[in-house]
Amino acid sequence: MIIQPLIIPKYILQTEALERRLPPYHPKKGILENKARSLRAGYNGELALDFPLSFLLDEQYLIFYYLRLSDASGSFQMDTLILSTNFMLIIEAKNMKDHVIYNDMGQTIRIENEKEQAYTNPVDQVNLQHLRLLRWIRQFKFPTIPIEKIVVYTNPKMLLKNQSNDKSLSEKVMHKEKILSKIDEFAATHTSKCLTENQLMELSYQLTSAHTPKEEKVMEKYDVYFEELRKGVICPKCKSMPMRWHKAKWFCEHCHKVSKTAHKHALSDYALLISDYINNRQARELLQLESLYVAKRLLQKECVEQFGVKSGRKYKLDFRKLLNE
Ligand SMILES: [Zn+2]
Repeated sequence: MIIQPLIIPKYILQTEALERRLPPYHPKKGILENKARSLRAGYNGELALDFPLSFLLDEQYLIFYYLRLSDASGSFQMDTLILSTNFMLIIEAKNMKDHVIYNDMGQTIRIENEKEQAYTNPVDQVNLQHLRLLRWIRQFKFPTIPIEKIVVYTNPKMLLKNQSNDKSLSEKVMHKEKILSKIDEFAATHTSKCLTENQLMELSYQLTSAHTPKEEKVMEKYDVYFEELRKGVICPKCKSMPMRWHKAKWFCEHCHKVSKTAHKHALSDYALLISDYINNRQARELLQLESLYVAKRLLQKECVEQFGVKSGRKYKLDFRKLLNE
């Protein structure tokens, strides 16, 4: 049973919004492009796990995606956590197209265009999550429950090589096709019940209550100001901008695409990067509209709430609703 469903985290959408809104010549453009690409690839890796995990028995396993807990050292996020009465399982998903080698120095090397590059060993990463989860659970005085962890590569075409002396590595690192048989293996190993059904529910409740989604001030993080962002409605087809408002529709002068809803993406970019609240003047600047009346009509249609009167009126935006997420 999925307790905490897989929805795309806000900080990924924020990074993508900032990348989209930076002009091509901006000095941060390249960094943002790489960051947005790698975050989206990571999320796609999670999506790829969603299907095999949907075969797990609802009454036996509780699934949590992107659970983020706080502890004395800060906070830690587990991509996927599976909970049962007999054991817990942390899954670290990796979605990459490059080949990966685990070497005898405990390093992970990815090979991209015949160039080798070391990056954080995901096994170390998942071991640390294990330690922190264990410490986190201890505060509730639940009976001890084994915690397993695996690293799963979701792209079936990439090669995984073990050049380390650790022959047990293949028990911890695998392609996603092995995931269900691995979970069966854990279930066969951990035959004794550590938690009652009630304790399982209690632990599940504690985990979801403690979950704090990552909040990021992405503009501050990359030191970008509103004035530097590209304004206007982006064409959903050819990505050029700005689209022109003409006869109650958005029109792309580049590819001639016509859209009635293209402003929704611009408004969600505003909510993700600047504020959940927008007024008429700000909306006209954002959408590159001259008409006060058109801006008002669009805002009234897309907002979730309005406050104030006349020129002081503010409209509340919900980026998930605007993006239909
Ligand atoms: Zn276009």
